[in-house]
Amino acid sequence: MMTNASQITQAGLSSLVEDLRQAGIQVIGPARVTDGAVEYQRLADLSGWTPGVQPRRSLKEWFLPVTEPLFRYRKQGPRVLVEELAPPDAPRVVLGAYPCDAAALPILDAVMGWDYRDDPWFARREATVILSQVCPGGDASCFCTDVGIAPDSAAGADLRMCPIESGWRVQVETGKGEAFLQQWSRHFQPANGSKNPLPPAGPPRSEAPRANPERVRAWIETHFEDPFWQEVALRCHGCGGCAAVCPTCHCFDIVDEPENPVQGARRRNWDTCQTALFTRHASGHNPREDQCGRCRQRVNHKFAIYPARFGRILCTGCGRCARTCPSGQDITEILARIDQWAAGPGGA
Ligand code: SF4
Ligand code: SF4
Repeated sequence: MMTNASQITQAGLSSLVEDLRQAGIQVIGPARVTDGAVEYQRLADLSGWTPGVQPRRSLKEWFLPVTEPLFRYRKQGPRVLVEELAPPDAPRVVLGAYPCDAAALPILDAVMGWDYRDDPWFARREATVILSQVCPGGDASCFCTDVGIAPDSAAGADLRMCPIESGWRVQVETGKGEAFLQQWSRHFQPANGSKNPLPPAGPPRSEAPRANPERVRAWIETHFEDPFWQEVALRCHGCGGCAAVCPTCHCFDIVDEPENPVQGARRRNWDTCQTALFTRHASGHNPREDQCGRCRQRVNHKFAIYPARFGRILCTGCGRCARTCPSGQDITEILARIDQWAAGPGGA
């Protein structure tokens, strides 16, 4: 990790955003929307910027849009002409990414570059500079520290920002962050005592029992048919809300959408393993025929399958799924119960 530190005043940050806008660089950051919630939004200036409040939805959709065209097609007689689309590589800056959102991006790089390189994903990744903010402390649903992340985690960040009395202290984390700082250096000053670490952030406030990811994984891998999954499924409506807000859920479907009889676009749209249609075959057979199999799949994929394949848990402990679920399904409760059984008599 690099150690260069700078600082920037709030006024300096405002003029940086203005300069970025003038240079045609899109700025994205947490801001209030009409129903009062905070979401990652395009920022024209800092008037609505709301650092220190975790956005309701994750940063994922800025890299994997809810729906996007992959190419366009047009029928011409017996032929079909395909129009490739320009890569989505417009330069962008995320100002104030939450650590649990920034950390999700390198986790997803693994699957996006695995058996096939997902060009739109990597075009957006390469075109985006991430300035994360140190989390001021989570709520009872947060558990980032259980999955190897922390409120001051640098994972996925090019630059890490921490509030100080006069504005923000900014720590360089990657070469891309260093280049950004140099390009816009007129807005920054050297940090006072630049060798000091960033001030520590408050820990998540969750009082829930902690789960050991290794024990959880071992239990999941050996309890595929356990009745516990039926119990988990009793609470689940299969609405997919948990996957929609999750920074690491990344499943999508690909469909050809005609605009008229001769032309249209092939699009990819978010999908989720929590709905019945996700795995239903054209024959009508569904290998995950009930909600039990779907709930098990979500937990299994995040805490056993993905770690086995990529060496990383597919969860950053952001807590959004628990906050969003209409029936109160709480991933920390599921993990804690599994962990208790995995630890055996006497507990951990
Ligand atoms: S949000 Fe809750 S009810 Fe909806 S699919 Fe997820 S766990 Fe099930
Ligand atoms: S599974 Fe839940 S806690 Fe984990 S990253 Fe997804 S939304 Fe956040």
